[in-house]
Amino acid sequence: MASINDNYLKLKAGYLFPEIGRRVSAFAQENPEANIIKLGIGDVTEPLPQACRDAMMKAIEDMGDRTSFKGYGPEQGYGWLREKIAENDFQARGCDVSPEEIFISDGSKCDCGNILDIFGKNNKIAVTDPVYPVYVDTNVMAGHTGDANEKGEYEGLVYLPISADNDFTAEIPSEAVDLIYLCFPNNPTGATATKEYLQKWVNYAQENGSIILFDAAYEAFITDPNLPHSIFEIEGAKECAIEFRSFSKNAGFTGTRCAFTVVPKTLKGKASDGSEVELWKLWNRRQSTKFNGVSYIVQRGAEAVYSPEGKAEISQLVNFYLENASIIRQELTKAGLTVYGGVNAPYVWVKTPDGLSSWDFFDKLLHNVHIVGTPGSGFGAAGEGYFRLSAFNSRENVIEAMKRITTTFNFAS
Ligand SMILES: *Cc1c(COP(=O)(O)O)cnc(C)c1O
Repeated sequence: MASINDNYLKLKAGYLFPEIGRRVSAFAQENPEANIIKLGIGDVTEPLPQACRDAMMKAIEDMGDRTSFKGYGPEQGYGWLREKIAENDFQARGCDVSPEEIFISDGSKCDCGNILDIFGKNNKIAVTDPVYPVYVDTNVMAGHTGDANEKGEYEGLVYLPISADNDFTAEIPSEAVDLIYLCFPNNPTGATATKEYLQKWVNYAQENGSIILFDAAYEAFITDPNLPHSIFEIEGAKECAIEFRSFSKNAGFTGTRCAFTVVPKTLKGKASDGSEVELWKLWNRRQSTKFNGVSYIVQRGAEAVYSPEGKAEISQLVNFYLENASIIRQELTKAGLTVYGGVNAPYVWVKTPDGLSSWDFFDKLLHNVHIVGTPGSGFGAAGEGYFRLSAFNSRENVIEAMKRITTTFNFAS
């Protein structure tokens, strides 16, 4: 019999979202008349921008004519898309990123996991707690950890706690780690990072020869002009950082699938013989071998994000969700809750009232006001006592959900 990758057996059996689903369907079965509003899931709700749809329609026509038909494209993505990204997302912000350093993919989630292909087995890896679960689970699958303890913490990972006490920004570790995952604006806490804060991480990475894996999926939600959008706005980052970006949350591409990863040519890692190797070469080789590129049609849709019409529509979309977030913040505050995030991010991170556990607060909202959120403890042990509400919903649902909370509860009293 074929043997399996035993590391998969160490994974906590996808506990969070199935457990939410189980509790919601049990409640719905007993209360068929309840109009349940889901503010739990991190998926967009608004339709694709017209500019993207028009570009994809035209691309479909291109595919129907043998003179403009496209077969396999470059594994790294089409040059015209990589150039637009380099120009608009990086050079316009003073970052020296070239089109060759940009690799188009079908998602940031896959890239965050796949990047481990080019790193060795014995790296010390740091994640924040709470954290986007993909960073942890992909390391477990790759055999970079031991077993999980009863709190869900894996042996061998370095957990950096984030809470209101440190403004949801992890302290720089006192020990040397090789890989560090950072996500700003943050999922799940909605926290942001200043240039000064990221500079500390870049300095640390340079001193220790570490690589920062920087997830900027929510970059478009930054409204504060002083906050950096890219790690490459930080001096020295081209020697120590890889950045993940996605069209999922800014342009609503969660179901269309397009993202990109920036691997600077100046990044190096150490081979087992002690020699230094360019990480760009390894990622280029990895993508050329295991990936055959994103659909031409979808890349044309992504290109339209950078057209004047596309930019205007995307800014409207982002503002729409940010206004939802602002309503959530304002109304929850009225109800006596303490809220974080939701200003430069589509997530509001709520302190549970009266010392309730994350799951107890989940049940309270579900049973009393028929609202579903995400228990903070599902993102890591240090998320206990917090709760995530997502701004990805219709205005109508957000207003109705907040009305139910403010008219039912007064947590301040
Ligand atoms: C949504 C999200 C992504 C984007 O994933 P895609 O695979 O590009 O849809 C990446 N990182 C985080 C933290 C996210 O929440």
